[in-house]
Amino acid sequence: MSKQDELNAIFKRIAGEHGKLTAKQVEFAIREIGRIRGEIADMLADYAGADGTIKRSRLMRLLRELETVEQSLRQYGTGVLHDIIEESAEFAVERANVAVEKIVGVTLVTASLNQNVLDYVASRFGDDGLVLSDRIWSTSGVIRDAIATQLRSDIIKGESVGTMVRNVRKVYDNQTWMIKRLVVTEGNTAYRTANAMSIERSEVADWVRIVENGSRHPRHHQHMCYKLAHEDRYNMGRGIFRPTDSEIYSPHPQCSSYIVPVLKSEYL
Ligand SMILES: [Zn+2]
Repeated sequence: MSKQDELNAIFKRIAGEHGKLTAKQVEFAIREIGRIRGEIADMLADYAGADGTIKRSRLMRLLRELETVEQSLRQYGTGVLHDIIEESAEFAVERANVAVEKIVGVTLVTASLNQNVLDYVASRFGDDGLVLSDRIWSTSGVIRDAIATQLRSDIIKGESVGTMVRNVRKVYDNQTWMIKRLVVTEGNTAYRTANAMSIERSEVADWVRIVENGSRHPRHHQHMCYKLAHEDRYNMGRGIFRPTDSEIYSPHPQCSSYIVPVLKSEYL
């Protein structure tokens, strides 16, 4: 097995491990952002009368107070996403460093890399024309609206606070796919960006290869990662790009493709 083949195999394994990390990050984000469920339960208890229901006359004021819930959603969402981006970037760089050192005996340059990755991921415009903070705001707004709609209908029906708290939990559970999508997209973008940036600064490679991670998605062949992985832009081979070609950092939402250094001939 050539050194390049060995490195490819290790990077494939690391990408699989990052997939497991992503699954944990999704759970973490849903739990952290879900702290608003407790805040809403406290708020409902404050508004309830002795009979355990909330008077219709208090509905408007309660809905206005959901403004603070939306602020919490944004605050928790922003904190969680930043933690996840840093964690994925660190994971990428540490593992890549160990792999490259093992195979070619050279360490990667990692100083200030995390901050650069965070800056890139936070300021990147997605296909939706939005940056990360816009995406967190719009997700928070959607979750808030869904909860407001449920509370309005429960109060009008005269439901008990206990029922309302359970219904808020159900509404939140129905919206967590949006949080999952955010985490999977941004964590993987951080992972690829960190790899590309660390390779760009290292002496071992001038080129990288994007590897599409396969997918059971029925239209996977239409995914941008698939197209990039099969494109021979520089006559260097399929999927080979400059580490600065940022379209390989985030080919499409929820993409789990990964980036491998193409070793210079002197390291082969
Ligand atoms: Zn993809």
